[in-house]
Amino acid sequence: MKTKTALITGSTSGIGQATALKLAHDGVRVVVSGRDDQRGLEVVEQIRAAGGTAHFVGADLRDARSAAELAAKATAVAESAGGSLDILVNNAAIGAGGPTAGTEESTFDSVLATNLKAPFYLVANIAPAMAARGGGAIVNVSTLAAQRALPGLAVYGASKAALDLLTRSWAAEFGAAGVRVNSVSPGPTRTPGAEAGLGEMLQQLAEQAPLGFVADPEDIAAAIAFLAGDGARFVTGAVLDVSGGRTVV
Ligand code: NAP
Repeated sequence: MKTKTALITGSTSGIGQATALKLAHDGVRVVVSGRDDQRGLEVVEQIRAAGGTAHFVGADLRDARSAAELAAKATAVAESAGGSLDILVNNAAIGAGGPTAGTEESTFDSVLATNLKAPFYLVANIAPAMAARGGGAIVNVSTLAAQRALPGLAVYGASKAALDLLTRSWAAEFGAAGVRVNSVSPGPTRTPGAEAGLGEMLQQLAEQAPLGFVADPEDIAAAIAFLAGDGARFVTGAVLDVSGGRTVV
């Protein structure tokens, strides 16, 4: 069987890194991406040391152009190895907290640019080729904050709620061509970004859910890998809640 290639944005840290490791473990050729070259190369080394195949392509995702450049470079990596870009995980994101009245316009714009505009233009540049080949899988990493009004996370939650809508739009747009599009919606997960941004709120949020504990990045990566894989061939347009049950209470 042909080796699949996956581009995972924001895989220099946290959930993206765990997803890159998991997909590589499952035999997928992985394109690791992020702004930090050093951490990206460390993830590549980690994957290679475990017997997987990985390449680093740096990107600062902030607009249509940066998304198009990353799409072109990741496609080139896949094609130079005789493959194609079969999986896209839109994981890179920034979270900005604070009350609505104190939110700077520049913060609003950068959250929307990284969390919504960049995934939109990555899909615009990658999904048509998947559709032309008759298959592909896209997983958008959303958040519990897209479904629940979490204090101080209005802009971040809104950016991800819009991403969930894109999941459904793209599932409809590309489904007939065999391209599946789903979201994973994590609850509190112990990552460098969440620990820096949420601090003690991470544990407090986790305790509001039936399962009551903070997830590891690997818990979220397992759900992403499921949706990206052929085991989910009849699943598209779904938002998979991976929040310890927080949305049912
Ligand atoms: P993290 O540890 O902060 O990692 C974020 C990743 O995104 C890093 O690899 C970072 O790479 C990349 N990134 C940020 N801005 C970027 C930009 N402008 N261009 C390119 N890459 C960029 O965060 P995480 O907790 O793993 O979060 C991963 C995803 O899960 C996000 O979509 C987040 O919204 C979602 N999520 C997380 C939690 C949680 O509790 N952890 C809960 C719900 C949803 P560089 O630093 O190298 O640029």
